[in-house]
Amino acid sequence: MTYDVAIIGAGIVGAACADRLSAEGLSVCILDSRAEHAPATAAGMGHIVVMDDSEAQFALTSYSQQLWNELAVELPPEAEFENCGTLWIASDEEEMEEVDRKFWKYAEIGLASEILDERSLRSAEPNLKKGLSGALRVPGDSVVYQPVATNFLVNRAEAYGASVQRNASVSMVIDGLVETWTGERIEAEHIVVAAGCGSTLLPELARAVRPRKGHLVITERTSTAVNHQLVELGYLKSAHGTDEDSVAFNIQPRKTGQLLIGSSRQYGSNDPSVDFEIVGKMMKRALEYFPSAAGVNATRIWTGFRPATPDGLPYIGKVREYDHVFAATGHEGLGITTSLGTAALIADEILGRVSAIPREPYSPKRIDV
Ligand SMILES: Cc1cc2nc3c(=O)[nH]c(=O)nc-3n(C[C@H](O)[C@H](O)[C@H](O)COP(=O)(O)OP(=O)(O)OC[C@H]3O[C@@H](n4cnc5c(N)ncnc54)[C@H](O)[C@@H]3O)c2cc1C
Repeated sequence: MTYDVAIIGAGIVGAACADRLSAEGLSVCILDSRAEHAPATAAGMGHIVVMDDSEAQFALTSYSQQLWNELAVELPPEAEFENCGTLWIASDEEEMEEVDRKFWKYAEIGLASEILDERSLRSAEPNLKKGLSGALRVPGDSVVYQPVATNFLVNRAEAYGASVQRNASVSMVIDGLVETWTGERIEAEHIVVAAGCGSTLLPELARAVRPRKGHLVITERTSTAVNHQLVELGYLKSAHGTDEDSVAFNIQPRKTGQLLIGSSRQYGSNDPSVDFEIVGKMMKRALEYFPSAAGVNATRIWTGFRPATPDGLPYIGKVREYDHVFAATGHEGLGITTSLGTAALIADEILGRVSAIPREPYSPKRIDV
């Protein structure tokens, strides 16, 4: 059989593409080398967040957030979707200037946010340390338990007629054909490479996508209240980052009553084991902002690798040197947020439609040759 689309990767990005394309009536085959648990998706934090490091990032994250809000009503309760909002925390007056800048930036596109001074920050989050300058509250941001959301998207794609092949590791892609390491050949008119860090399967992407390691810590259930996803404004510096290791305070309330604490960023390591020096720095930072977590036990620590690109934007769209091969990868620390927008852009390109936001900034054609 020849499919309309073969998608390589059943992480959140491949799952979202499969769901979208099969809902459009295309015949879809998803191939994944693993039996379950896409690595970056399983390791992520599930913060659905609008970010404005660049116009293109702002457009994709805010568009994707709208799509998540539409999907939320259909997700099962186990997906733990919660519209808790984000607090971007300013520790000094210089960071309050950034709060102000963000507020006006968001207002430009009609995205609601609110500036909290020291006192209103304390009443919003009484367990934060005293003496912080304030925060920007972005009420439209949410959190989701992304492994369940991913399974939901894959299952819905299957219900639309998609075929899912697990333990199918792709060794080669050419126009019209995908081949697995076991020699199986799948013909498809269009091929979407949504293989996260494994997208280096295409030589073009191998030049640009590299893994950026991260750690997360989850605690036991606690009565220590956290009402929003809390992120220090310094997180933005850590996320842009140089090649140096960095940590930033980032804490997420879970519906289970647990706290999910992040996060770190490291290039140059392919070793998935926990680096306790980095975890120590991460927890020190967390306790500086959130001293009430001091008595709460951690129950698990894990690592994951974000598929990063040199300019911090994902690759979405047709790959140079092919006629019908598309990339949907390189989402770094925003792949859960931007999965749905990515899928919409891929569907529009394959179906020859204009998209809700310009596609050009994400084109893989910007990769240096
Ligand atoms: C610590 C951490 C915290 C994060 N927090 C957030 C957050 O709060 N919000 C947010 O939006 N994002 C967050 N992210 C980023 C997000 O998790 C990733 O961007 C996203 O999961 C990438 O999804 P993916 O589908 O591209 O990749 P993956 O989930 O890695 O899926 C790719 C799939 O492709 C398969 N594959 C690879 N190679 C092949 C091959 N040759 N043949 C067949 N299959 C193949 C793999 O088996 C895998 O299942 C975080 C990431 C980390 C590590």
